[in-house]
Amino acid sequence: MTRIYNSILALALFLTGGVYMMPAQTQPAVPQTLPVPGVAAPAPVPQPPRPAPAFYRNLVVLDPAHGGRDNGAQLSSNAVEKDLTLAFAQKLRPALVAQGFTVVVTRDSDPSDELTTDERAGIANHVRPLVCIVIHATAAGNGVHVVSSSLAEVDSKPSSRALLWNRAQEPMVAMSLKLANEVGLTLETNHLPVMLFRASVPPIDSLICPTIAIELAPLKGNSGKPMLPSDSSYQQRVITAIADGIASFRTHNAPPPTSVPGAKPGVTP
Ligand SMILES: [Zn+2]
Repeated sequence: MTRIYNSILALALFLTGGVYMMPAQTQPAVPQTLPVPGVAAPAPVPQPPRPAPAFYRNLVVLDPAHGGRDNGAQLSSNAVEKDLTLAFAQKLRPALVAQGFTVVVTRDSDPSDELTTDERAGIANHVRPLVCIVIHATAAGNGVHVVSSSLAEVDSKPSSRALLWNRAQEPMVAMSLKLANEVGLTLETNHLPVMLFRASVPPIDSLICPTIAIELAPLKGNSGKPMLPSDSSYQQRVITAIADGIASFRTHNAPPPTSVPGAKPGVTP
């Protein structure tokens, strides 16, 4: 019966879009008692409501930085960063959908009033994604900069300490570093120069999911002019690598729902 229930549960989770319920603390087995003839069976013990999933394993939040009156960096004479980050997110989205992800964006237009850091964090934290990707671009440097929070790694349980809004990323830093490594690896596999570093790029430190910022810099080859971040073939190579890296992170850190019963140790972010 339990096995059938688990199968139905797994099927239901699959049909509802692969919502991954984080394995709760392993519950001790309930002692079974055989019914005694003539004695009424004990009333069933009410079960507590199922906890909300800790995160959705097929959900990604993209945060195109800047917008509105905040142009970001001047990338060339006719290109500003806020437009590039938006266009890049719009191209990254279908690549992630092709990997089976649902994508939520913090903005899908150029708003008249720019989003505040808290508004961006609020959107991302509300939907509980597998990962959040903050998108920037720069006219300096070479290749792709992959940035994770500079906050110290904290091994904290939710109940053991208050979560400070501007340090909400702390318990997730280790997972964010894993995400940075996965994406860095797929970028390198696609022969793109990568620089991994840590910095408090807003709104990373206020996010409660594994998060990296991707900063697209010009691509300098051995000869000729560097490719600008606006170059579509360059962008496409980066997009393919990022989507592969996020999918790889999902495989290694968020097992599919069917494998949650008897979950492997170490999969909890
Ligand atoms: Zn920027």
